[in-house]
Amino acid sequence: MHIDIIGAGIGGLTTAIALEQKGIKTRIFEQSAELKHVGAGIILANNAMQVYEKLGLKAIIEANGNPISSMHITRSNLNPLSKIDLTYFEKKYHTKNIAIHRGTLQQILIDTLKSTEINLNHKLTSINAQKNKCQLTFENGQHIQSSIVLGADGLNSIVRQHILPDHQIRNTNQICWRGITTYKLSKAFKNEINEAWGKSSRFGFVQISENTVYWYAVKSFKSHKNELSVHALEDYFSHYNILIKDLIKSTHKEHIHTAAISDLKPTHTWFKHNVCLVGDAAHATTPNIGQGACQAIEDAFILSECLSKHQFNKAFEIYQTLRLPKVHHVVKTSWRIGKLAHLSNPMLIALRNQLLQITPASINRKQNEYLFKLNTV
Ligand SMILES: Cc1cc2nc3c(=O)[nH]c(=O)nc-3n(C[C@H](O)[C@H](O)[C@H](O)COP(=O)(O)OP(=O)(O)OC[C@H]3O[C@@H](n4cnc5c(N)ncnc54)[C@H](O)[C@@H]3O)c2cc1C
Repeated sequence: MHIDIIGAGIGGLTTAIALEQKGIKTRIFEQSAELKHVGAGIILANNAMQVYEKLGLKAIIEANGNPISSMHITRSNLNPLSKIDLTYFEKKYHTKNIAIHRGTLQQILIDTLKSTEINLNHKLTSINAQKNKCQLTFENGQHIQSSIVLGADGLNSIVRQHILPDHQIRNTNQICWRGITTYKLSKAFKNEINEAWGKSSRFGFVQISENTVYWYAVKSFKSHKNELSVHALEDYFSHYNILIKDLIKSTHKEHIHTAAISDLKPTHTWFKHNVCLVGDAAHATTPNIGQGACQAIEDAFILSECLSKHQFNKAFEIYQTLRLPKVHHVVKTSWRIGKLAHLSNPMLIALRNQLLQITPASINRKQNEYLFKLNTV
C-alpha cells in the first residue's frame, strides 16, 4: 500500500522523506513537467531546522546555507527599530535559523528520497470518493486508485476542493518581488536578516551563501491589475537606503519573481475520510513572519509520526488537533504584521515605530518561543 502525495513542493517532499523514514511507501504526483529551481531564497527558522535535524538533514542544509542569528526591523534608511536575538534559541535547541537558496533546498530534499517515485506531468483534476478508496484523475488522462491521499498542492489546492469546497482565499493587495543577486553584504549584515519598513512597503534582504543575497520587496496597491511589472521597482524603492537600491539594480530583471500575496482564511477541517491536507494546502499564510514552509515542514514531521502509530483516520484527527492551534496563530499573526508593516498614515507610522523601539526583548523572545517549540505526538 502506498500513501499518495499530491505536490512536490517543500511540504510534499518533506512529508515523503518523513514517511519513508518510518518505513511507509509513498508516491508523489506533481503537475509540473520538471522540478524547476525557484529563483528565490528561504529562511528555515529554528522549528523547521529542528525537524530537519530529526530527519538527518541538518548538516547538509547548514553546509549549503547561511546561519542567521538575529532579525532586524529598520526604517527605510536602515536605521534600527527592533532586533530579535536568536542566539538564545540557538543554545536552547542546538540549531540555527538558516537562509538558503530554494533551489538548493529542493535539490537536497529530492536527493534524500530513496524509494519514493515522483510522477511529473500529473496535474490532479479531481478526486472521487469510492468505498474504501479514492479515484484520482489527472489532466494527462490517467486514473489512479488510492488508499490514502495527502494534498500538498499549495494555496490553490485541488485536494482542498474535495475536503472543503467553501474555503476563502484572501487577497492582501500586496505585491511581492523576489530576487537573487551576486552580492557580498558587509560583515555586519552577514548573519542577519534585515527588513526595512517604509510607507506602504518594505524590503528584506539576507546573505544566503558566500556571494549570494536573496531579497524581497513588498508594496501595497489599491488594485494590482497593472502593478506586476518589475520595471517600476527601482522607482517604488527610490527613497530607501542606497544598499537596497543597489541590490535591486544589481539583479537581472528577468530573474525577478513577482507574486500577489494571499492566504487561506483559517479553516478547521483538514481531512475527510482518507484524504488529508499538508502545508499551504491546509493553511497558506502570508509570508510576513517567514513561517509558511516551516509550518509545512512541521506538518510533515507530525503527520508521519501519527501515521506510523495509528490507523489513518485516528492519525489525521490527532495531527489536526495538534497542529491547528499553532498554525492558526501563525496565519493570524502574520496577517496582522502585514497590515502593521504597510501603514500609510505618517502619524500611525511614527506611533508604530515608537512601539517597535520600546518593545522589550523579552516580549519578542516570548513570541518566538511559541513558534520554535515543536508539537509532540
Ligand atoms: C514571497 C514569499 C516568501 C516566503 N518566504 C518564506 C520563508 O522565508 N520561510 C518560510 O518558512 N516560508 C516562506 N514562504 C512560504 C512558503 O513558500 C510556502 O509556505 C511553502 O512553499 C509551502 O509549501 P507547500 O509544499 O505546502 O506548497 P507549494 O510550495 O505551493 O507546493 C505545491 C506543489 O504542488 C504542485 N501542485 C499544485 N497543484 C497541483 C495539482 N493539481 N496536481 C499536482 N501537483 C500540484 C505545485 O506545482 C507545487 O510543486 C514564503 C512565501 C512567499 C510567497
